[in-house]
Amino acid sequence: MIIIETTDELIKARDTLEGSVGFVPTMGALHEGHLSLIHQAKAHNERVIVSIFINPTQFLEGEDLDKYPKKIEADKEICKRAGVDILFMPTASIMYEPDELVIMAPAIMGYILEGNRRPGHFDGMLQVVMKLLNLTNPTNAYFGKKDAQQLALITQMARTYHLRTHIVPCDIVRSPQGLALSSRNLYLSPEEKQKALALSRSLKRATKMVMNHEMDALIIKNAMEEILESQTEIEYIAIVNRDFHPLGRVEVGNTIILVAAWVGATRLIDNLWI
Ligand code: AMP
Repeated sequence: MIIIETTDELIKARDTLEGSVGFVPTMGALHEGHLSLIHQAKAHNERVIVSIFINPTQFLEGEDLDKYPKKIEADKEICKRAGVDILFMPTASIMYEPDELVIMAPAIMGYILEGNRRPGHFDGMLQVVMKLLNLTNPTNAYFGKKDAQQLALITQMARTYHLRTHIVPCDIVRSPQGLALSSRNLYLSPEEKQKALALSRSLKRATKMVMNHEMDALIIKNAMEEILESQTEIEYIAIVNRDFHPLGRVEVGNTIILVAAWVGATRLIDNLWI
């Protein structure tokens, strides 16, 4: 595995790779969720590039940019063992110049759910993903369904800007208890980890209801709220179609149920694709 820190070196190294290239962009503090993306990239491509970059432009004022978990040595080891060919670890000054041209999330997607709670977050995310896709020019790029809105926006950006990369959605990896893996879980105390299970429990409850033919979004949301409210501070529970338009009734094969909630000082998100 080679470790690269500059864009010029990355472009050069990328150009020497022959055959299909899989790319997995991350912010590091790697866990089994990231690893499942890397394994899929490995399985379906001749070469694999992983990036680790805590992208400042997608953090809002007052968010956890400065204290975002860093595990550089462990991450390098994980990538090496997973058979990654190139690990790209740039700094912010390598990635950005002052006053850049930016891409903006479209109005509806940019303003609802995560876009509403974190204004500007998606613009910064799209900015860095576009850069990374251009630098690595991958055949396939792997993104988790855990960040469902992010995945939808990246898919749309690839379409709008005629990118040649195939965007591959990957299933959410969970702890045995059900907690969706996230680098931010490192912030949780053991007691908070227990409380955080309410997110996946509420989604399991929703699954059961749908399996029992309860399709009414309001009834499902109320049942989820009951599970969440004693353990967390709920930000939103939403039932939308795959284009993120709100649904009054669940449409099997075209629905995402999303939840965002605070457990102590940690903001967690989770979702379920039906
Ligand atoms: P992050 O490092 O949090 O920016 O995540 C990098 C990529 O890993 C994104 O595409 C995430 O959606 C994905 N990811 C994060 N957590 C999980 C998980 N538990 N299961 C599957 N993919 C995940």
